[in-house]
Formats: sequence, C-alpha cells, structure tokens
Amino acid sequence: MLLPSPSCQGRLPDGADSRDLSLLEETFQESVRRLAANMARVGVALVPYFTVRGPRRQGQLWCQSRSVREISVQREILEAAGAPKIASYLDPKYSATGRPATHLLPGQSWHQWGTAMDCFHSVAEKSIWRGSTFDLMRDEAEKLGLVTGAAWFAAREPNHVQLGWERDVSVARSLTFRELEVALGKIYDIGG
Ligand SMILES: [Zn+2]
Repeated sequence: MLLPSPSCQGRLPDGADSRDLSLLEETFQESVRRLAANMARVGVALVPYFTVRGPRRQGQLWCQSRSVREISVQREILEAAGAPKIASYLDPKYSATGRPATHLLPGQSWHQWGTAMDCFHSVAEKSIWRGSTFDLMRDEAEKLGLVTGAAWFAAREPNHVQLGWERDVSVARSLTFRELEVALGKIYDIGG
C-alpha cells in the first residue's frame, strides 16, 4: 500500500501524541528540517507541537466538538464499512470536551502517517500563532514542495505543514476505511 510511515522501530502506541521531529517520515522530516533552517535564517524559530498522532488520539480530537448522537451515527457507518477498530476510537466519553479541532477521522489525517507537522513560531522568544510569519512559512514550504494549511480555501490551518495538497488521506489515496484500518495496524498497536 502506497502510504508513508513514521520513522520508528516496531509499532507505535495507538494513543501516540508526539512533537518529536525524528518520528516523522524520512523525506518529510528532511524537508521540515530544511524549512526550519530557512525560517531561522530570518529570525523565525519553528516550534512543533504536533508531529505523529496515533489513531486513538485522532478519534479523541474528532469527538471533542461533537455530540454523542453524531459520534454514534459515525461509529455505525464505520462498523458497516468493516472498520470496527477505527469505530472504537470514536468514544462518546470525549463528546463535548473541546473546540472543533478536526473533521478528519482516524487514518484520514497525514499526522497518522508521519507526513504532517503543526507548529507555532517564536520570534525573539515571543510565541506567534498567526500573521505574516505564516505567509512566509507558506512560501518557504512551497519552495520545498510542501503545503501549509494557509493555502486551503476552507478552514485554513496556517500552523499545519504537510507533504501533499489533499488533506484527507482516504481521498488522496482512494482508500476505504477498511483499507485504512489494515494499514494503521502495520504502524500502530491497535490490538486484536
Ligand atoms: Zn496538523
């Protein structure tokens, strides 16, 4: 299956929630380090706060801004699609615990495959979350063949850097949830 993979020995825990660049897939990691070096040259330090995110964590983020009803409907759809493990990551106990963070289900985010990184900026030790340095990061990222969420028309995410244009892995690679689940099992300890 033509999916990228995090740099790790053995399987990662399904609740992985890392900000470690060395876990990123090899070629993406190299590009991100180059991007950080180019930004540092103009005084902007990249501060990663999300790199590799396991499917359990992705499920929590999806659930946090949704109702119990929405979660149970989506679970049924996933079970019917032959992806019971992905379904199990949508746990109603995380319903209504936070703001909207993602519309991507476990497996659909490049963070599960080691080819996405979220960061804020630090300029003279001041933390920056929006503004012109993110326009600059977008330009520098594109020179390296990367995409930032600043380029998206809907729900811009200037803090997010990834390898390809399409944000949903299942769309980008034409994969069903069943196929995503099988592929996740090769990277993460998702249990029986
Ligand atoms: Zn992200």
